[in-house]
Amino acid sequence: MFYWLSTYSRASLSFAGIVIAGLVVWLAVNSTGNLAISQLQQTAQARLALYESTLRAAVDRYRYLPYVVARNHEIVDVVTGNGTVDIANQYLQKVNQRSGAAALYVIDRSGNTVAASNWNTPDSFVGQNYSFRPYFTEAFAGQEGFFYGIGVTTGRSGLFISHPIAKSGEIVGVVAVKLELDELERNWQDGGETVFVSDADGVIMLTSRGDWKYRTIRPLTDQERERILRNRQYSGQELLPLNMDENPSGEDGLLEIGNERFLFEVKPISGSEWNLFYLTPMDYVSERRTSVMLITLIGSGLIILIVLFLRERELKLASQRKSMEFARIQALNTRLEQEITERRKTEAELRGTQDELVQAGKLAALGQMSAAIAHEINQPIAAIRTFCASAKLMLERGKSENLGPNIEQISALTERMGSITGQLKTFSRKSTGVLEPVNIRAALDNVIQLLSSQLHNEGCVLEQSDFAGDLIVHADLVRIEQVFVNIIRNALDAMASIDDKDPKAKKRIIIDLSGTRDQATIRISDTGPGIGEETLGLLFDPFFTTKDPGQGVGLGLSVTYGIVRDFGGSIRAYNRAGGGACFEIQLPLMRGTQK
Ligand code: ADP
Repeated sequence: MFYWLSTYSRASLSFAGIVIAGLVVWLAVNSTGNLAISQLQQTAQARLALYESTLRAAVDRYRYLPYVVARNHEIVDVVTGNGTVDIANQYLQKVNQRSGAAALYVIDRSGNTVAASNWNTPDSFVGQNYSFRPYFTEAFAGQEGFFYGIGVTTGRSGLFISHPIAKSGEIVGVVAVKLELDELERNWQDGGETVFVSDADGVIMLTSRGDWKYRTIRPLTDQERERILRNRQYSGQELLPLNMDENPSGEDGLLEIGNERFLFEVKPISGSEWNLFYLTPMDYVSERRTSVMLITLIGSGLIILIVLFLRERELKLASQRKSMEFARIQALNTRLEQEITERRKTEAELRGTQDELVQAGKLAALGQMSAAIAHEINQPIAAIRTFCASAKLMLERGKSENLGPNIEQISALTERMGSITGQLKTFSRKSTGVLEPVNIRAALDNVIQLLSSQLHNEGCVLEQSDFAGDLIVHADLVRIEQVFVNIIRNALDAMASIDDKDPKAKKRIIIDLSGTRDQATIRISDTGPGIGEETLGLLFDPFFTTKDPGQGVGLGLSVTYGIVRDFGGSIRAYNRAGGGACFEIQLPLMRGTQK
C-alpha cells in the first residue's frame, strides 16, 4: 500500500513537473511570439518615419520652384500678355530640366496655360485650360496650392504645387510644377514593401501594390465623388472601395484586404491630409512568429533536455556512489566477518593452549608431588604388610576371633590410600569445559588435601579463617582448583628461602574466605618476602618469572588470570602491611546460593 502511495505521489510529482515545464515553455513561446510582433511593429514604425521623410523631402525639393519662377519678369510679362512666349517656354524648359520635375508651366488668370516646359512635346500643356483644378483656384486666391491627381493632358498622375504670380499687388496668373512620384513607388516595390498613401478622401494615390492604386480605403460619399469628378482628379478611375476591414475579428493592429491579412501601422503626413500606411503581411508575421516560437521551443526543449541529462547523470553518479559505498561496506563486512572468524579460531586455539597449559601445570605439579605421594603411600603399605603378617600369625595360632580389629585397620589404611589416589585422579583429570555449581570451600579443601604433604614437608602452617557459609560459583571445579594450586605453590616457592628451623620466621599461608550477596572473595596470603614493586605490574604476563630456569616458566599466574576472567571474576596481587604477598580473587556467586 505504501509502495502504491509512493508510486502515486511520484507519478503526480512527475505530472506536475511536466505541466510546469509545459507552462513555462508555453509562456516563453507565447511571449517570444508577442516579442516578434512588437519587433515587427517597431520596424514598421521606423519604416513609416523613413518613407514620410523621403516623401516630404521629394515635395520640399520642388516647393520653392513655382515661388521663384513666379518672380521672373519674363514670366510675369508673358502671363500679362506683354512678353514673348518663346522666351518663357525656353526659360521654363531649362529650369525644369535642371530641377528634374515632370513639368513647369504658367497659367493666366482665365486658366489657360500660356507657357510650359513641355511646349515642344505632343503632351504640351500650352493652350490647355486648368481653371477647374483646385491648385489653380487656390493659387489664384493667393495661397500655395497642392493637389494630387491624374494629369488631364498626359494621363499620368502627379503632385501639382502652385504659386500665384503677382504684379503690382494683383494676382495675374499661376505657376505650377508637376512632380511624378513613380520612382518612390518603384523603390517601395523593389524593397518588397507593402506601402500606400491615401489622400483626404481615402483614395490610394501612391502604392507599391499596382492593383490597389485608385481604390479607396472606405466608400466615397456622393459629395466627395462629385467633387473629385469636378476636379477631374482621378479621371477614368472608378474609385471602388478596396474591401478593407480594419481589426478583423476584433484583433488590434490587423487589416484584412480581400483575402490577405496584414499587421499595419499608419502615420499622417504632417502638413497634409494624407496618410501613409505600412503593411506587414500576416504570412510573414506568422512565419516570423513561428520561427521565433520554434527557436524558443527548441531552446526550451534543449534546456529541459540538458537539465534532464544533468539530473540523470547526477542520479547515475549518486547511484554509482551508493553502490560503491555499498560494495565498500560489504567488503568491510566480509573483512569484519573474516576477522571475527579468525578471532574465534584464535580464541579457541588459545583456550586449547590454556587447557593444555593447565594440564601441563598439573603434570608438573604431579611430578613434584610424586615423591611425597610415594612417601604417603609407602607408610600404609608397610602398615598393611605388618597387619597381614600378624593376621597370618593369628590364623596359624587359631586365634581367628582376634582378626576383626586387624582387618578393620587394613581396610582403614586402604581407604586412606584410596583417598590419596582418588585425589590424584581428580587432579589429573581434564576439564570438561562444562560449567557447574562449584563450592569454593570444597575446591579449597581438595587442594589443601592434595598439597598437604608438600606443606608439611616444607614446614608451612596453613591457616584458614572461620567462614561458615558456602560460596557457590558457576564454574569448572578442575579449573578453580588449578587456580588455588597455582597460588599456594607460588606462596610455597616464595617462602622456600625462609629457614623453617627459625621459630620467629614462620612459614604461613593464610586463607581468608568472605562473601557478599553476589560475590565471593578469596584472599591467599603468605609470610614470604612479598612482591617487588617492578614485578607487581608484570605478574600476570605470560612467561614472566623471577625463578631460576627449570624452576618456573612464568605461566602459572597468567593461566590463573585467564581462568578467573573466564568465570567473570577478577584477581589482583598486593603486598600485605605486615609483609608477604596477598592474592585476592573475586568471583560472582550463583544467585541465591549463599547460605
Ligand atoms: P612461575 O611460578 O613459573 O615463575 P607464575 O606466573 O606462577 O610463574 O609467577 C610469576 C612470578 O610471580 C614468580 O616468578 C614470582 O616472581 C612472582 N610471585 C608469584 N607468587 C608470589 C608470591 N606469593 N610471593 C612473591 N612473588 C610471587
